[in-house]
Amino acid sequence: MANLVSDVRAVAEEHPDETALSYRGRDQTYGEFWERTGRFAAELADRGIGADDRVAVYLPNLPQFVTAFHGTLRAGGVVVPMNPQYKSREIRHLLADSGAQAVVTLSDLVPFVEEVREDTDVEHVVTVGEDADAGTDFEAFLADDDDALADRAENAAFVDRDDDHVAVQPYTSGTTGQPKGVQLTHRNLASNAQTAAGLVPDGIRTDDRQLGVLPLFHIYGMTVVMNATLFNGGAYYPLPEWDAQEAVSLIEDEDLTLMHGVPAMYNDIINQPNAEEFDFSSLRMAGVGGSGIPVEVLRRFEELYDVKIYEGYGLTETSPVTHFNSPESGRRVGSIGKSLPGVDAKIVDGNFEERPRVPEGPVDEEETDLDEITGELVVAGPNVMKGYAGLPDANEGAFTEQDGKRWFHTGDIGYWDEDGFFYVVDRKKHMINTAGYNVYPREVEELLFEHEDVADVAVVGVEDERRGETVKAFVVPTPDAEATPEDLKQFCLDNLAEYKHPREVEFVEELPRTTTGKVQKFELREKESEAAE
Ligand code: ATP
Repeated sequence: MANLVSDVRAVAEEHPDETALSYRGRDQTYGEFWERTGRFAAELADRGIGADDRVAVYLPNLPQFVTAFHGTLRAGGVVVPMNPQYKSREIRHLLADSGAQAVVTLSDLVPFVEEVREDTDVEHVVTVGEDADAGTDFEAFLADDDDALADRAENAAFVDRDDDHVAVQPYTSGTTGQPKGVQLTHRNLASNAQTAAGLVPDGIRTDDRQLGVLPLFHIYGMTVVMNATLFNGGAYYPLPEWDAQEAVSLIEDEDLTLMHGVPAMYNDIINQPNAEEFDFSSLRMAGVGGSGIPVEVLRRFEELYDVKIYEGYGLTETSPVTHFNSPESGRRVGSIGKSLPGVDAKIVDGNFEERPRVPEGPVDEEETDLDEITGELVVAGPNVMKGYAGLPDANEGAFTEQDGKRWFHTGDIGYWDEDGFFYVVDRKKHMINTAGYNVYPREVEELLFEHEDVADVAVVGVEDERRGETVKAFVVPTPDAEATPEDLKQFCLDNLAEYKHPREVEFVEELPRTTTGKVQKFELREKESEAAE
């Protein structure tokens, strides 16, 4: 039931003529899509790649990503998605650690693979793009040995995998050390894609058209956007990179009905000079996750376009969604919502004791001693990873067995209320300790977002001899901003306890972000400590 291959196969057989993928005006039906994944799988099999073998997919969001992903699964293999922005230094560890035997990539990226190839087991390079000499061309790969393939491509799944076999092995982004391979099984991914699809009002339907701008190498774009759409017969519209105007035009021109994005994308849309003119009347929902969406950004988007934002929370290790905050379930703005059906969650202290629940959230963070109520969010359920690949110590630290459940430590600090809503205050590693006080950067960021001259902001702790750390805000001002950094400092002082206010506000043109829209706070901190030296 929860096998990724059989789920897509059922849809392809039922709706062979519906559109599965649409890219720059070219549509692929489910029938064609199924045929292409079959050919891809057969070609892998011909090269001796089968059960449990790793295939790295190092591509932006293109239809070929989807073929390679589902083709690898049909061959019984395991997909290792890699960020196409990575260079050789970053892919060396991923390829070597995973033992990938094949890489599917853009011809432009082949030099990075070649540079590290001798340190890896890579034998086959399949390329998408102009340069035919760079490897085996993707289309030629699919077209090889036509008769034999057509024959074998009819045999639906070539290699049967059961639910507990690993299907995908993404890597953590490695902001805290070497990236770790996250082993996600067919059950983990299929259950989460179907639960996520069920959270869309009336579920995802065959007439839905989904914006595919969230990167496919990341679990959010892979599960909640691509797989949830394909498992339900909708059409997926990949976009290789984020460009607000291009995404907006695609939504308007193709009457897209569903979109998902990270908070930075919503912020980008509402900050476009012609933001008030966009027509999003075809959208049935807009999903957000990856980091907490500032309340002001959510309100403004909903007001401008009359489209409700549904916030989800999750991690790579949980395939990803564990919590969801939908208008139908009595949404509480500022909360990550309730845990998904089938997912258990709680807030615990350092001894794994449950923290008390507040009567009703969100609490007023100014009035409440957060240290009294917050703890680490831990989760258990069918979507929780099998474990990190080959890292027994990391697995030991990541899980706690209790009451017959295997609880995963998310590394996020939060609290919960008596109605079952959860609130993430910040990530454990982002917390600032200034002269003994804990400051959660997100609270200061939320406040600064309320200021009309602030287009974007990130708050970090910077080293300080006297206080250990102090609070610093990096602000991207709006084009017609009048406020000075001093004014913004004063604004924080007027609205927050003194120890929380940024002692320094620096104006910057933009913030360093990952492709999944997260501010790279470690980079801001590094820049800061280099400047101090
Ligand atoms: P790494 O863990 O390697 O540093 P990462 O942060 O990019 O990388 P992901 O698995 O992509 O790893 O992100 C998971 C994290 O994203 C969560 O632990 C949480 O901190 C944050 N997050 C996701 N959704 C939300 C949300 N709705 N609200 C607040 N935080 C969120």
